[in-house]
Amino acid sequence: MSNPYRWLEKSLETIHRANWYRSVKTIAGRGGAVVELEGKMVINFASNDYLGLAGDSRLIEAAVQAVREYGTGSTGSRLISGHRPLHQQLERAIAALKQTEDALVFSSGYLANLGTIAALIGARDLILGDQYNHSSLKNGAILSGAKTIDYLHNNLEDLESKLKQYRPHYRRCLITTDTVFSMDGDLCPLLELLQFAQDYEAMLLVDEAHATGVMGATGAGCVEHFNCTGAELIQVGTLSKALGSLGGYVAGSKVLIDFLRNRAPSWIYTTGLSPADTAAALAALHIVQSEPERRSTIFENVKFIKENLINQFEILPSESPILCLKVDSPKMALDYGQKLYDCGIFLPAIRPPTVPTSRLRLTVMATHELSHLEYLRSKLLG
Ligand SMILES: *Cc1c(COP(=O)(O)O)cnc(C)c1O
Repeated sequence: MSNPYRWLEKSLETIHRANWYRSVKTIAGRGGAVVELEGKMVINFASNDYLGLAGDSRLIEAAVQAVREYGTGSTGSRLISGHRPLHQQLERAIAALKQTEDALVFSSGYLANLGTIAALIGARDLILGDQYNHSSLKNGAILSGAKTIDYLHNNLEDLESKLKQYRPHYRRCLITTDTVFSMDGDLCPLLELLQFAQDYEAMLLVDEAHATGVMGATGAGCVEHFNCTGAELIQVGTLSKALGSLGGYVAGSKVLIDFLRNRAPSWIYTTGLSPADTAAALAALHIVQSEPERRSTIFENVKFIKENLINQFEILPSESPILCLKVDSPKMALDYGQKLYDCGIFLPAIRPPTVPTSRLRLTVMATHELSHLEYLRSKLLG
């Protein structure tokens, strides 16, 4: 008899041999622009905490107060015993930011995508998704059981030819896209996608994970950035990036949200968001709206980096705080990443198979100071 778990070791060995093995790195203390990574102080260019709110004392205070008042867990699914006044307040605040009729919070952005797609689309339907979409959109499509076809990244011609070819053969159709692409930092062509959705009778689901709190004059995301506030579409996002907490959301029409409350399995059959996470996200939403200067600082920092590194590196097209410096090979990317780490800069190399071409990927925060950026410049040019 052989051990039925034996294949796990072999599989891990293969991962090691391909240099695809990954492991966690420990950060001590609170997240921020400077962190202690594996015992070494480094300037952090790898965080999703764009506004610097995850360590903000107001979020911490809100979370602590919520724990005192409601306890640590929400003790049940929202439909049974897990619904708290805080959840409703948070959903109202998200809908207010997004200027949608309603919103629904999930335990994570990943679960929001899985549950929403699975609820809206089934075996007789069609999903057309950007090839660079986030894993949660791709797995949501698999969970839905629909016919799923990827279109080339941000390629409207390819999308339209696929709509023409496939749309007539399916009942419902859903187009899915990230609004800010997480590995490149470029934006989806939202206006054109909305037009296609109308022309081909398709629903459009946009993932605002990297845009919420960051893009748009009030931080509502790319839908606002493109002046599409009020358009009929499905907006998904996360509370765990610029909002510094944990959880996900869907924002849209009253009827959409009501439907999801009755049909989204990853919302119905899971425990409600914890009081601490809910309260922290709520506090973050207030700051997003009351401190727009955080967003201005991010984009001033982006400008500094672009202007100062453009002669040395090819920077992939980006209109967001995600900037990618192109490097020629996976080995060069790794060497650069290590060299920077040795000088106290955390700016990770991203290699195939995660992305098609090797790069150094950096995310810009509102709490990066000019001295951090100047230090980065000196080390990258030196
Ligand atoms: C991070 C991310 C998610 C997942 O959000 P979580 O709340 O972390 O689960 C979904 N979509 C995109 C595009 C993301 O970048």
